[in-house]
Amino acid sequence: MRIEHLINGKSTPARDYFETVNPATQEVLAEVASGTAQDVDAAVSAAKDAFPAWAAKPATERAKLIRKLGELITKNVPELSETETRDTGQTISQTRKQLVPRAADNFTYFAEMCTRVDGHTYPTDSHLNYTLFHPVGVCALISPWNVPFMTATWKIAPCLAFGNTAVLKMSELSPLTASMLGQLALEAGIPAGVLNVVHGYGKDAGEPLVAHPDVRAVSFTGSTATGNRIVQAAGLKKFSMELGGKSPFVIFDDADFERALDAAVFMIFSNNGERCTAGSRILVQKSIYAKFAERFVERAKRLTVGDPLSESTIVGPMISQGHLAKVRSYIELGPKEGATLACGGLDAPSLPDAVKNGNFVTPTVFVDVDNRMRIAQEEIFGPVACLIPFDDEAEAIRLVNDISYGLSSYVWTENAGRAHRVAAAVEAGMCFVNSQNVRDLRQPFGGTKASGVGREGGTWSYEVFLEPKNVCVSL
Ligand code: NAD
Repeated sequence: MRIEHLINGKSTPARDYFETVNPATQEVLAEVASGTAQDVDAAVSAAKDAFPAWAAKPATERAKLIRKLGELITKNVPELSETETRDTGQTISQTRKQLVPRAADNFTYFAEMCTRVDGHTYPTDSHLNYTLFHPVGVCALISPWNVPFMTATWKIAPCLAFGNTAVLKMSELSPLTASMLGQLALEAGIPAGVLNVVHGYGKDAGEPLVAHPDVRAVSFTGSTATGNRIVQAAGLKKFSMELGGKSPFVIFDDADFERALDAAVFMIFSNNGERCTAGSRILVQKSIYAKFAERFVERAKRLTVGDPLSESTIVGPMISQGHLAKVRSYIELGPKEGATLACGGLDAPSLPDAVKNGNFVTPTVFVDVDNRMRIAQEEIFGPVACLIPFDDEAEAIRLVNDISYGLSSYVWTENAGRAHRVAAAVEAGMCFVNSQNVRDLRQPFGGTKASGVGREGGTWSYEVFLEPKNVCVSL
């Protein structure tokens, strides 16, 4: 199978192709167009030409088409989720029940929202100020390989609904569902050129896209290192930068122990640990630390690792051999830094024959981790948990904030005052109290510090996809 670019509504071949591989089996799934600056130019030009007519459409008409795209995704959940699972190694239970349906919700939600964009008024005795919100123009949307379909739609839905046109570049490691999405958008009646999809590597296709002078806004989700490069290459544009994380999961001794345990296991091992908001630094108050560590390790040992297409699998393969090597390097590093390996490690898990060549990691838990160790400070992005003991609230807050990242955070306590104090003190874009990560499409999603700039979701998506204009009228 060959996956081509989608430019101006047409399947467009490339000069070169690369292979995308099933990380559970190493089977080649498709040859994928390897985009160049020339392909990017053609896609941006198509998006620029399509912009005036699309922006001029009444919001209610755009909404109909966007809603239709959501319906088509819902109709195609089985095929989309199976493709996503084969391409990324995310388990089928996650893609079919959560991630692909969430993609459809993104379109339904922003279809509704684009018909309700309102403004502000600032009256004075002599003048009336009011704001108008205009679409920005051509937007570059860049998605990573983890949760790629959902992440892409989280950008495409507001981008298009608010009247912009887009060039989407998916990760070279997970291009398949984006290509299906481009076709579904045409089937929904979204005009040619409004959504263009260019495949390829970051350097060859991503960089010319973000640097393109006709691109007005960049919505990027990916690593902090790439985010830094993009900001430098792009020049003056609107930005949303959703970057890496090393989010603290703090459990006080008055927490609901069983619920906190369930959530802690879920937040580090679901999505194969390849989750930007993973609770990868688990801080536990000393009075319950030993009991928690024992139960947590017990649970980690019981997780089913294996074929991501099997309903019972909890942890699938790492996306690539390169990423597998990176995760393993941290597992090797932990004991050298003085952490205790409580379970997992470098031995491969026992696997069914069909996936015995996959990029698997045994769920790993390090206990007695010091927050300054690299395994506690750097994003591993795999099924590797670090348990860190703390004495009291003040120490917990100090450890939580002693890191360059600031994406999400989790606090578990039955003491309401403490919950609010800690939530206010954490340096992170999001704080979940007595909860795992639960998404509401209205909430501001994003991080601070090295985890990003800007927020997306609900009216927060205005920041990148709409340009406010103030009109001041003399009375
Ligand atoms: P990555 O930064 O390597 O790549 C992300 C995308 O950027 C890919 O499409 C890649 O091709 C492209 N790219 C690479 N170099 C580029 C360049 N110079 N110019 C333009 N584009 C370029 O990230 P990844 O490994 O694909 O994804 C994992 C990272 O994403 C993790 O750090 C994770 O935390 C982060 N992430 C963040 C969020 C969030 O919402 N904050 C969500 C998911 C993933």
